[in-house]
Amino acid sequence: MVDSSVERVETVTVIGAGSMGHGIAQVFAMHGYDVTLVDVDEDQLVTANERIATSLDQLGEDRLAVLDRLTTTTDQAAGLSGADLVVEAVPERIELKREIFEAADRLTPPTTILATNTSTLPVTEIADVTDDPERVVGMHFSNPVPLMEIVEVIRGEATSDEVLETAIALSKDVGKTPVVVEKDVPGFILNRINYAFWSEALRVVDDGTHDFEAVDAANRRLGFPMGPFEVLDFAGIDVFYMVCQALDDRDVPVVISETLEARVEAAAYGMKSGEGFYDYPAPGEYERVDISMERSQEYDPWQMIASAVNAATWLVDEDVATEEAIDTAMLTGMNWPQGPFAFAGEYGYDRIVDVLQRLYDETGREQYRPHDRLIEMAESEGPDGVAGDDI
Ligand code: NAD
Repeated sequence: MVDSSVERVETVTVIGAGSMGHGIAQVFAMHGYDVTLVDVDEDQLVTANERIATSLDQLGEDRLAVLDRLTTTTDQAAGLSGADLVVEAVPERIELKREIFEAADRLTPPTTILATNTSTLPVTEIADVTDDPERVVGMHFSNPVPLMEIVEVIRGEATSDEVLETAIALSKDVGKTPVVVEKDVPGFILNRINYAFWSEALRVVDDGTHDFEAVDAANRRLGFPMGPFEVLDFAGIDVFYMVCQALDDRDVPVVISETLEARVEAAAYGMKSGEGFYDYPAPGEYERVDISMERSQEYDPWQMIASAVNAATWLVDEDVATEEAIDTAMLTGMNWPQGPFAFAGEYGYDRIVDVLQRLYDETGREQYRPHDRLIEMAESEGPDGVAGDDI
């Protein structure tokens, strides 16, 4: 049993020094924690140190003071000993994560909190290998960690209230906005909604009815800073492909897009490979895509929003998260201009249901079948998009 105050956490060990791990280590070190960063690959640790130093300079932080609180090592056992909090950020493979948690469980005292940064895999499947799953929790940061505000804090089936509360308090203490995921469903909030949202964009490209630039332009018209194909290029097309597979493996109704699969087979993963849906100056070098807004009327982006609202409604109905938490998650985690429920309120729930019904009739895809709860919300809504009870 651990108590829920942040004061009891002074030392943090991050396992995996890649895109996420180095950023997580950086934010904890920036907020006064003593951090050990562990990786199997010495080169990754060198790169991580360089990336952290560059980021600290860009943020105007005291580079020497922060780096003084950061140690790197390839010795996992040494890294784990003495940790009050472990954050695992190794690649998204269930067997690998289970190996790390088995070791962390064995090599740390029962008071150490064990957190995973998985973006899709159920925390419970990872916690199952430990003797004490009460101390295992999800802390899903977003990329790039120093800049993105969100942490999805996920309650596994056995996570204790104290551990959940501490993870929430720690997230706040490092300047983040925690969004609580009360039930451990694959994909949590962000990737559940991302799937619903992006798969609709991919479907119309798969069908050949629209091309991806027109879909991106339509999204920008609604106030999104980037369209779905720009975001996929930025985040990694292969990463989303793995999310789809992880959902599919866990019986979430998923259709894997041919367009997505073709890009993965061609190793055109997006910005990191210099080529994805768009071309970039060099691998890893981001340049904002130039998209003609003349094409922004060709596709109706409310089809994507409607699909996302349906998934969001399912999450509320399953008691995974509140409407407010979901809207906050999409704002702070994906830079949406407003959350799905705010969008639905603006457009009208009845119109959202109509869009879904039409898409369901056209495609037969489960993701578009309007959720009963959504139909009820539409029925209780007034003619001007205001809930009937409130008038
Ligand atoms: P990455 O491939 O950039 O980094 C993973 C690191 O783990 C590598 O440096 C690798 O050498 C190291 N590693 C591999 N096996 C290890 C082991 N046994 N012990 C210690 N280190 C080991 O991956 P990433 O993008 O940082 O993703 C890490 C996790 O974060 C995944 O679960 C991913 O789903 C999640 N995530 C990623 C993103 C993203 O946008 N990249 C966003 C949110 C969450």
